[in-house]
Amino acid sequence: TQSSNSGWNLRNTYAQLPKTLYAPMQANPVASPQLLMLNEELAVSLGFDTDKLRTSEALQIFAGNQFPDGSLPLAQAYAGHQFGQFTMLGDGRAILIGEQQTPTGELFDIQLKGAGLTPFSRGGDGRAAVGPMLREYIISEGMHALGIPTSRSLAVVLTGEKIQRHSAEPGAILTRVASSHIRVGTFQYTAKYRSVDDLRALADYTIQRHFPDIQDNDYIELFRRAAKKQAALIAKWQLSGFVHGVMNTDNMAISGETIDYGPCAFLDHYDAQAVFSSIDAGGRYAYRNQPLIGGWNLARFAESLFPLLDDMPEQQALSVMQQSLEEYVIQQKDYFEKGMREKLGLFTEQPEDAKLINELLDLMQSTHADYTNTFRALTFDEVTEPNLTGAAFDNWREKWTARQQQEGRSANDSLDLMKSRNPAVIPRNHRVEAAIAAAEQGDYSVTEKLLSILKNPYAHSAEQQDFAAPPPPSTPPYRTFCGT
Ligand code: AMP
Ligand code: MG
Ligand code: MG
Repeated sequence: TQSSNSGWNLRNTYAQLPKTLYAPMQANPVASPQLLMLNEELAVSLGFDTDKLRTSEALQIFAGNQFPDGSLPLAQAYAGHQFGQFTMLGDGRAILIGEQQTPTGELFDIQLKGAGLTPFSRGGDGRAAVGPMLREYIISEGMHALGIPTSRSLAVVLTGEKIQRHSAEPGAILTRVASSHIRVGTFQYTAKYRSVDDLRALADYTIQRHFPDIQDNDYIELFRRAAKKQAALIAKWQLSGFVHGVMNTDNMAISGETIDYGPCAFLDHYDAQAVFSSIDAGGRYAYRNQPLIGGWNLARFAESLFPLLDDMPEQQALSVMQQSLEEYVIQQKDYFEKGMREKLGLFTEQPEDAKLINELLDLMQSTHADYTNTFRALTFDEVTEPNLTGAAFDNWREKWTARQQQEGRSANDSLDLMKSRNPAVIPRNHRVEAAIAAAEQGDYSVTEKLLSILKNPYAHSAEQQDFAAPPPPSTPPYRTFCGT
């Protein structure tokens, strides 16, 4: 460790959990680190002095070569269902250096992703390539700006070492910031392989960290609250056209934040069946399946909590959990429909709204209309979505206009609502790819520009216009890859 007054203020609450839940870590030093990205705004909110995060001392920390004072570095143990198959996993290439306490008293995990081998690396090299780490940085920050709960990205460093992927690629480490990295898979691991006491310690810790107002270690309430967060999160994914791509139970955070930016991508044209990940041949994690898979994952969480419900008859525990899962399904749908009404400038709820929404989505599906730009076109009449024309759309538009008039609100009220719900820009795949390609040639200006454009997605500024365009029609279908 080293002494440093750049603002480190670490706690080690996870390290105080039973030792079965993690492996203590040492540094896996890298040759010649170099700082690529530093998220100054996030750094300040975490209590850091940004100038001091640009020193060589700080670089050693972001590279995992040294740990700051107060750090008890560790790799977390977890399991998970990967595409439905239960597997022992754990942080195979990430080190949690501790929890940063912010000036306002909040705790955030500070994790180095790509920091080398851990006891959970299995066949992997413990490292990460620069492209995917920049991709996570850009997309997670874009998600945050859209108002979607997510892990964040504080820094990216090059390690100065090459790693073997499709070809030899520059290694990098991402400093990831999250409310925690407790996953459904953390509970699955503990329930299956460890004692009930360990499981209780994990559940009590999770309550304290994320739902501190839950009384009397009520584990059913823990489940219900976590499920509600997922309902809200997945509704936001659906509303912004985000396809996570690898909703394995180890990639579902109990905090309700989006974690693990592997094969994710945003829809350009609307397609309910959209799958971007090259390994998701069956479409398990397709856009339209996300709410359902969220429920499947939550069922695995519920099962993991069962050993803690020993003061309740089994039949009762089962039926309470079943009821809570049904609540999730209803909440998810409600959040989605409320969000869609807002995207359409509607303040109140009417029985025929679901039909109005579905008709629009069906039209977008059949015409391959751009998802984001359809809502921009509806918001600003002067922005046109070329695919949305013809009698069927005119007909829908008449119904929508009539529905808006029922509201008795001014056109300006609707416009303001729609502007605040329909982004001008999202992290479009072709833009993210272009930024990464330039960065790989040593030009980071494209990434910086994209980040600045994505920072205020609801600004609807003139300079965003260019970034709102979908990829040229000749572009082949977008594919993403895991294991990077
Ligand atoms: P993911 O698909 O990102 O959720 O990762 C699944 C598991 O594979 C996690 O346990 C990761 O830590 C692990 N993993 C991914 N990439 C590597 C790597 N290069 N070296 C070691 N473990 C890895
Ligand atoms: Mg993962
Ligand atoms: Mg991953």
